Amino acid sequence: MTTHRAEALQRPIERDPLAAGLMPEQLALMRRMPKAELHLHLDGSLRPATALELARERGLDAGMEIAEMAERLIGPERAADQAELLRAFDLPIAILQDAESLTRVSHELVEDVATDGTRYVEIRWGPALHVERGLSLRDGIAAVVAGVRSGAVSAGGGPGIVVRLIAVALRSHAPGLNVDVAREAARFLGDGLTGFDLAGREAAFPDPLLHAEAFELARAAGLGITVHAGEWGGAAQVRRALAVRPARIAHGAPAVDDPALMAELRTRGITLDLCPTSNTQAGIFPSYAAHPLPRLVRAGVPATLSTDDRTVSALTLTCEYARARAALGLSTAELWRLDRHGLEVAFLHDDEALRSRLLAEFDAFASAEPMLAAAVGPA
Ligand SMILES: [Zn+2]
Repeated sequence: MTTHRAEALQRPIERDPLAAGLMPEQLALMRRMPKAELHLHLDGSLRPATALELARERGLDAGMEIAEMAERLIGPERAADQAELLRAFDLPIAILQDAESLTRVSHELVEDVATDGTRYVEIRWGPALHVERGLSLRDGIAAVVAGVRSGAVSAGGGPGIVVRLIAVALRSHAPGLNVDVAREAARFLGDGLTGFDLAGREAAFPDPLLHAEAFELARAAGLGITVHAGEWGGAAQVRRALAVRPARIAHGAPAVDDPALMAELRTRGITLDLCPTSNTQAGIFPSYAAHPLPRLVRAGVPATLSTDDRTVSALTLTCEYARARAALGLSTAELWRLDRHGLEVAFLHDDEALRSRLLAEFDAFASAEPMLAAAVGPA
């Protein structure tokens, strides 16, 4: 079993069972197309070799070798529920309790997504999870800001990569602590931290309004608002998330069961940042092929496609696109519209000129690609 999971991390997309049947030229297009990813967690995306090195330096490795570390970092293919899947984050969070480790993994994650052809990425993490050994919220945020900045410089060749950050408040944390997170996060708005999110164990802490004060502080400060919803509790939990007036919802896929809710998402222009592989791992849907992404998209619900966690899900964004094409039956044009929509709703309100340039760049790519001819321009 150990080698099985570690191998999943190295497996080429050509041998991914969920991407079977994809034509080589379709896969090649997904590899080279510029991608925008809005839903990606720092602590779910560590390189196993780095995690092992950092764990050894900090006396947290318990004699592990690399295969065992990979096993610890990759979530089960199918967990009982969200709470079980979240256990894959315990070791990364234990390791990432100082500025040096946060900076390093942030830098490497930007390099990794840039290598996958991602042109714009939003990386999120919970600053209050990294203060157990004396790091302050502010110094922890500054460490991630420094890491993504140097990572973007390092990934500079070619078109490069644009990064924005989202501070995540935790459902399980005290409302006052989440207010502190919002306040500290807002200080970094000029440094590329442009969003605020709520995540964590949804069944145990179902009510996002407990953290209304943190959301309102973040909104007033100019941060884009998103919230995790629907990893437990179905469409009712997605509806409940609307109470914090989000611009986007992380996941939210069970909205498909409630036509009135889908209509409201359409009308209010609230985007679902969907992650089918992660949802399948969390046991929300019976299989990858059963994920409602195609039904949501064809019902006109605004949506984007992301990995959620590169390492926990042993996944790249290109692979998630390939799976959505092969196993969910989305057309290449539909996938391109999801990708482009990511730029439209990105938390890039700190630099609208940059958003316009990126959109123009994506459109230029599409107009030069015969396979995307049908998808050029706003849907
Ligand atoms: Zn997430």
